[in-house]
Amino acid sequence: SPATLSDIVTSFLDVVHDRLLADRRGDVADYIPELADAAPDKFGIALCGLNGRVYESGDTHIPFTIQSVSKAFVYSLALDDIGMNAVHNRVGAEPSGEAFNSVKLESSTGRPPNPMVNAGAIVTTSLVNGSSPEHRFERILTRLSAFAGRDLAIDESVFTSERVSGDRNRALAYLMRSAGSLSADVNETLDVYFRQCSVLVTSRDLAVMGATLGNGGVNPITGRRVTSAETCQHVMTIMATCGMYDYAGEWLLRAGLPAKSGVAGGLVAASPGEFGLGLYSPRLDHSGASVRAVVAAQQLARRFGLHILHRP
Ligand code: GLN
Repeated sequence: SPATLSDIVTSFLDVVHDRLLADRRGDVADYIPELADAAPDKFGIALCGLNGRVYESGDTHIPFTIQSVSKAFVYSLALDDIGMNAVHNRVGAEPSGEAFNSVKLESSTGRPPNPMVNAGAIVTTSLVNGSSPEHRFERILTRLSAFAGRDLAIDESVFTSERVSGDRNRALAYLMRSAGSLSADVNETLDVYFRQCSVLVTSRDLAVMGATLGNGGVNPITGRRVTSAETCQHVMTIMATCGMYDYAGEWLLRAGLPAKSGVAGGLVAASPGEFGLGLYSPRLDHSGASVRAVVAAQQLARRFGLHILHRP
């Protein structure tokens, strides 16, 4: 019988997965023991179509912490809560060309360059509505869960470690407080930020989250509207320009998809109107993105002509 589209997609996911298993470049994040202990050879690729079909290859059900991948989705909540102009007054939209933990702030205002670097993500988290830090985090967890289409939870030991080892993020937050760009309490904001980084997901979850962005805000599995199409457009714009930090320009050149990386080895990419891609492999490159995830996403984008500027 003739191969269906799903056979073609699934077999290509397996080809990419199997080909990259031999790639052991990069190092697992080691700034906290929980990340240093990750099994370095795990590798999962999941793709979720806008019809809700999920294609998977490899370790797509292994939980890992979402880390910086959360920044894109929390940005969607801040946009919905206070509006794009109010968010933009506090967090810029310019690629910094610098690493995720860069201290670069706008010289006149102390405003962080964009919501994908830590400084900008910390301010973004502080802009989420809530009557207390607990309430703010509850709303963030609800938003992340709605994107994933299931109830997510946090890894408490990662949270505790992030909090005790978070001196650089704490320093960034104090710097922004003194510059006037962070108006919320430093410790309360960082607790929410470290919790949001400690939410457990699988590569399958990331595929569904990406598909929800690519589907204009309606989760293709649950059928529920999570956010507006306009917010998805704003989020994907920032992912396309800033999601991969100091690799963002080359990433856009080679993969051409809005994406966000995290230091636990997760990567989400969205193909607008097509599907979401979720990848996991813990060994990281110099920019803090998963080596295998970056290569796999580029091969998939190339094979299926997914570059957002692609013209057939
Ligand atoms: N928890 C990490 C931090 O804030 C997340 C960084 C990342 O995933 N790039 O430093």
